[in-house]
Amino acid sequence: DRTPLMVGNWKLNLDHHQGIQLVQKLAWSLKDAEHDYEAVEVAVAPSFTSLRSVQTLIDADELGIKLSSQDISSHAKGAYTGEVSAEQLTALGVDFAIVGHSERRDYHGESDTIVGAKVAAAIAAGITPILCVGEKLEVRQAGEHVSLTLSQIDGALEGLSAEQVADVVVAYEPVWAIGTGEVATPEDAQEMAEAIRARVAETVDPDVAAGMRILYGGSVKADNVAAIMAKPDVDGALVGGASLVVEQFAAIAGFR
Ligand code: 13P
Repeated sequence: DRTPLMVGNWKLNLDHHQGIQLVQKLAWSLKDAEHDYEAVEVAVAPSFTSLRSVQTLIDADELGIKLSSQDISSHAKGAYTGEVSAEQLTALGVDFAIVGHSERRDYHGESDTIVGAKVAAAIAAGITPILCVGEKLEVRQAGEHVSLTLSQIDGALEGLSAEQVADVVVAYEPVWAIGTGEVATPEDAQEMAEAIRARVAETVDPDVAAGMRILYGGSVKADNVAAIMAKPDVDGALVGGASLVVEQFAAIAGFR
């Protein structure tokens, strides 16, 4: 089921008061637009410190908005200071977890092996991992963007059963397009989404690949989302900066 999915990655922005306000405004805006949450799923990914407050609001007002964390521990419990486990996130009603974002890979040394362990931990707890992959500018300039991105897919999905991979959402985020205003062309996004789907068909299972949601991320805005979504293998967007602006993110969710 490839229902379009729009995820707002708030990154390190907003405290829990501000988070609640943003979700409340977003919900009103989507209500005004008569948003059909079954036709386009909408999720927000606040900081860990805001998850509880946002979840309480979503539950109390029965909002259709879903909840994501920005990371998840690969460990279940124990002496791992600062980590947050899949089980703890499940207890907060978290639906999704962003895993292996390029900022985690770059600034926190997350390897494909660690990312793979996090994907597995999320799935085991019933949380849908949003597995982020994508190349840096120099890799694209060298013409190796497809092979590099597919190696990240291979690394993160290694050892998972087809049944487990069926629970994964992939987000293709070319690093050079993140926060730069430099959006990949719809053709770039389609090329990679198609390559990822073909790889999963080959290494995991054709049916799983056909049903897998593949998002694009990197400077998605209200005015470029429709062209990206028009591509056949792109099933949604992972949105950073524009997800902090209600009008932007509401328009992105209503892209059609
Ligand atoms: P921007 O939309 O700010 O480019 O961020 C993209 C991103 O990294 C989402 O995870």
